[in-house]
Amino acid sequence: MLEINSVVEAKVDCTECGACCKGLMINVTKEEAAHAASGVGISTEVFKEKYIEESTGGQWIMNTIPCHFLTDNKCSIYENRFAECRAFPHLNKPNFADRLFGTLMHYSICPIVFNVVEQLKVKLDFFPERAEV
Ligand code: SF4
Ligand code: SF4
Repeated sequence: MLEINSVVEAKVDCTECGACCKGLMINVTKEEAAHAASGVGISTEVFKEKYIEESTGGQWIMNTIPCHFLTDNKCSIYENRFAECRAFPHLNKPNFADRLFGTLMHYSICPIVFNVVEQLKVKLDFFPERAEV
């Protein structure tokens, strides 16, 4: 999967897509919010008021989908973007098999995930319709 992912990732231009920024809920830590706030020249308090919703459990979440910071299909705070944004679609992390459910949730959203899964199916000869009954 990692080999396939490295080939697929290199061929996909995220600036032509932006689907994750347009469709996913983004969790943000307080430290990340402070960093991003400083990057756009506002206080963390103002950043929170404008862009963050706090869950009942205290988790900070971006308060709009698509994300406020997506401009012309590019991240306007790219250098200060959040850890979740940097890690998506999480295919470079270990224990892929344990995270299969989360990966497949993004199959219809992310072209990288779609292509990696499809190529993985070919590599593993995963074609249930061909299975003998
Ligand atoms: S902060 Fe940037 S990378 Fe993250 S969701 Fe918003 S636009 Fe996308
Ligand atoms: S959905 Fe996938 S391909 Fe599209 S911008 Fe996000 S990471 Fe890149």
